[in-house]
Amino acid sequence: MPNFRSLLDAIDGIAYTTDADARITAIGLPHWNRFATANEAPDLDAHPYVGRPIFDFIEGESVRGVYRERIKEVLGTGQAAIFATRCDGPKVKRELRVSITRLDDEDQSHGLLFQFEIIDEVSRPALDIYDFKAVSVWLKGQADVPIVTMCSFCQRLALDSGNDAHEWISAEHYYHRGGVSKVRVSHGLCADCYTEHHEERLGPRA
Ligand SMILES: [Zn+2]
Repeated sequence: MPNFRSLLDAIDGIAYTTDADARITAIGLPHWNRFATANEAPDLDAHPYVGRPIFDFIEGESVRGVYRERIKEVLGTGQAAIFATRCDGPKVKRELRVSITRLDDEDQSHGLLFQFEIIDEVSRPALDIYDFKAVSVWLKGQADVPIVTMCSFCQRLALDSGNDAHEWISAEHYYHRGGVSKVRVSHGLCADCYTEHHEERLGPRA
């Protein structure tokens, strides 16, 4: 039987396995490396990620909460979790299909397989708010930078509409409405994605 690593290398999309505590055990390298190059981060080495929990790399407590819930459900039921997320770059709108599948070992222990497949990619004029690297360089040593919340799943931005209310708008609208790139982005969950990940999922099933 071919080894596990060669299987991960062959799988479509970015794929990695974890143990039941979501600690990364192996990463499929060809797609990882291709994705890193496409995102102008060719040195993004996969190796340091192995052995660390995925929660170290997910920004925003509410976002980590969604992954925690999904993982718990997958481990408990054996049913894969499948959902959409966005992973934009400045010049590309990118939609991903995420799947989390339980792996059952012979000794009854479990692991998880995570797959991130690109299902849609559309080029667009650069939107610098998605240039996280450039913004983080600029942010060093800056005080009093406004904070804008970005939904990690649909990548819309929260616009303060007064009275503690938020309107979630696309980055294009954010710029049309005078938004700027030099902001500290905090990652969260918009109302629609909250409903999708918490309420709808926990409601009655067909
Ligand atoms: Zn959202």
